[in-house]
Amino acid sequence: MRVLIIGNGGREAAFGKKLAQDKRITEIFFAKGNAATENIGTNIYITEISELLHFAKREAIDLTIVGPEAPLVDGIVDEFKKAGLRIFGPEKKVAKLEGSKAYAKNFMKEFGVKTARSMVFNSFVEAKEYLQKESYPLVIKASGLAQGKGVVIAEDFDEALKTIHDFMIEKIYGDAGIQVVIEEFLKGFEVSIIAVSNGKDIFPMISAKDYKKVGNGGIGANTGGMGSLAPSPDFTLIHNRDFLDNILKPTLEGLKDNYLMFTGFMFFGLLVTENGCHLLEYNMRSGDPETQVLMELLDNELADVIEDCIDGREINLKFKDEKAVCLVLASGGYPGHYETGYEITGLEKVQHSSVFLSGATNKAGKNFTAGGRVLNIIATGKTFDEAREKVYADALPVKFDYAFYRNDIAKF
Ligand code: ATP
Repeated sequence: MRVLIIGNGGREAAFGKKLAQDKRITEIFFAKGNAATENIGTNIYITEISELLHFAKREAIDLTIVGPEAPLVDGIVDEFKKAGLRIFGPEKKVAKLEGSKAYAKNFMKEFGVKTARSMVFNSFVEAKEYLQKESYPLVIKASGLAQGKGVVIAEDFDEALKTIHDFMIEKIYGDAGIQVVIEEFLKGFEVSIIAVSNGKDIFPMISAKDYKKVGNGGIGANTGGMGSLAPSPDFTLIHNRDFLDNILKPTLEGLKDNYLMFTGFMFFGLLVTENGCHLLEYNMRSGDPETQVLMELLDNELADVIEDCIDGREINLKFKDEKAVCLVLASGGYPGHYETGYEITGLEKVQHSSVFLSGATNKAGKNFTAGGRVLNIIATGKTFDEAREKVYADALPVKFDYAFYRNDIAKF
């Protein structure tokens, strides 16, 4: 089987590593991949949907897996399906559940999905009036895709007003911010549930946790993820029941009702308060860095799961009874301004973990930093202590200038 994976992060490397263990997979292409995927398969340097389609036909690709949201929102699945190609991901109209927070919130309200109380605004004046009446903190979200930066937790009216001004009038995120969602602030812990859909039903994997903040103890700016673990130790069976009944079930009903059933990954970003699980967001793809830990524990062949989904068969997901931890090494300054081009050394000294370079390039056999989140170190163990000790021991010899990482991943 010849597989094409769209994307260039640690998530795509994790898919690739998992698929490469399957004897049926003869060739893996990554578009455009990264320094890690170069060692798993072949990187191809194209991103335009029309060119990817041409490539998939020419190379007789049997299965395409889409990692990031942008090509989904741009309709890659629609185009591939029109051409009769097998692709795993939602069509454009379904990807809107991620691409528009206003649309997603309206969907949640309509179908009774448990979520934070919120209002959607297209008018700055009306949004401002609403802000004057509410108590703080309040969460303000740009409706469109803003690469995870379009969410501000405003502590008071002045901060909230500045935020809607930035989003709606200054348009700092372009059209993504001209519509805003203003939402009640919820206090609790976050859990990621990634599921697969076979077009008829949705099958959740074990829970995972993403460490979003840049600093130890969960302080500082939001990032694309500084580490992850699975399964989440905070997420109890009672939480899971609550998720299934009050989030997954109404979501499934809503998708069916709106003719939005699809085959692909679906990500539920949950915030668990003392009143149970609330859905913060849907992503219509797998998470990064959650995929990195989930793929370590998944006990099915990934290609089987995906093929069964595409063909509408029942899915029986199995996971190893172990713990997985992922630590991200980042460039100094990230998620703000950072410099790139520093050589990465010591990778050959890593003993107990897998390493996926993501924000890195390979030049003449040497690796250099090329992004904010430079590499992922992933290990499993019988306990979180065991898995954590492996990743931190393996992080020590890996060096590049201005590298930093959090010290508290999987520390409880
Ligand atoms: P991501 O980068 O995860 O895709 P996003 O920009 O799509 O994020 P959300 O997931 O809705 O947006 O919010 C980002 C983060 O803001 C959440 O992970 C959470 O930490 C915080 N957050 C969002 N909504 C709330 C809320 N109602 N109460 C408390 N915190 C919230």
